Formats: sequence, C-alpha cells, structure tokens
Amino acid sequence: MWQFRFRNPLKLFNLFSPMIHPHTRLHYINDEIGYGVFATEFIPKGTITYVKDALEPEVSPEEFSQHTPEMQEVIEKYSYIDERGLRIISWDFGKYVNHCCHCNTMSTGYGFEIAIRDINPGEEITDEYGMFNIERPMQLTCKFNDCRGSVCKNDIDSHYRDWDEKIKLALSEMTEVEQPLMSFLNPPVQEEVQEFLKDPAKYKSVYALKHQGVSSNSNHAFEPASFK
Ligand SMILES: [Zn+2]
Repeated sequence: MWQFRFRNPLKLFNLFSPMIHPHTRLHYINDEIGYGVFATEFIPKGTITYVKDALEPEVSPEEFSQHTPEMQEVIEKYSYIDERGLRIISWDFGKYVNHCCHCNTMSTGYGFEIAIRDINPGEEITDEYGMFNIERPMQLTCKFNDCRGSVCKNDIDSHYRDWDEKIKLALSEMTEVEQPLMSFLNPPVQEEVQEFLKDPAKYKSVYALKHQGVSSNSNHAFEPASFK
C-alpha cells in the first residue's frame, strides 16, 4: 500500500484550498503577465501540486458555443481542455499558474500535476501548456533564449517523449516526499500510479492527455470518452 508521509492534511486545508498545493499563494506579477502562483515553502520534486477534484466546473463544446464571445474569452483564458475535449476551470487559484518553457511542474497522464524538480520558497510555480489542447496558438512571454515563442495544440506530438522522461523521474520520488494532495486522488488513479512504481513498464504517458476527438468548433456530434 501507499507509504506516503501525511502531516495532518486536514489541518492544512483549514487554511488553504484543496486543489493546488497548500504551500502556494497568488501574487500579482505585472500588467503584461497578470497573476502567478508562488511557492510559500520548499516543495520537493515528486510532490503532487494540483489535483482535479469533483468541484471543478466542466464546460462541454456545446455549452461553450452557447456563451457570448466575451464569456468564451474568459473561459478560454482560465481553462484547459482535457483528453475528453471538456474545458476544465479550476475553482481555486490553480487557474493562474503560468506557462514556462522550463516549467517546474507538469501534468501527468494520470491527470494530476507533479513537481518535476525542487521548487524553492518564493519561486513561481510554472506549467507546460503544451499538454492542454489549446485550440489557438498562444504567444509566450518567457525570457529564455530557447523559448518556443508560442504554445500550439500539437506541441505534445513533438515533446511528449521528453516530458515523459521528466515526469517518470518525478513520479519515482513520490513516496519520498510529503503529499498533502494525495487524499484527493481517486483510488483508481492511486492504483495506476502504484502499478507504475512496482513496474515502470506500466507507465501511462502524458500523451494520454491529448484530445483526439473532433474540435469543439466543429458541428460534429461530441461524444465524451469515459473518464479514467
Ligand atoms: Zn517560453
């Protein structure tokens, strides 16, 4: 069974929201970037930093198409598109995590996000938007020389192998660190991760997050796949 070291997670969640890691805070960066999420304590590699819980609003393509253009813009800004083609909007400040081409957290094929390296207090929590099935290319404001310049829907096709390697290394350290969000993972997901830890050949690639269905802009019938 799991051998995670819990340090009274209920006490932590009296003060913090359960979605994004409790040792984070929302901070206004500047007018260009807006808000970002920052670590308030050391968050070691292998820590689950975000879990989608049952309260997350989900917007289907049909629902999205019925909103006004103004509302669609807001929804697009604060949501990601999952492997079923549904727009997921974090109900806490998880939606303010910014992209970085050298991100310190990544989504996994299991649906939660994980720290892929140690994150120091005061450091911004960053993410890889290339896994979010975004429908229109998004210009980036990274300051790195090797910044991709924009994030596109098909970035996952060319990068997922590299991302998988980083995620696997992080997953393998999951049992070594405190996991305040572990109790929010669905038991089947916990079992899948446990399978990987016992047998790395059973790893579930982050490519599982790619939405393979029709675009939400099309008029074809939308048939959501069952959620794993
Ligand atoms: Zn960049």
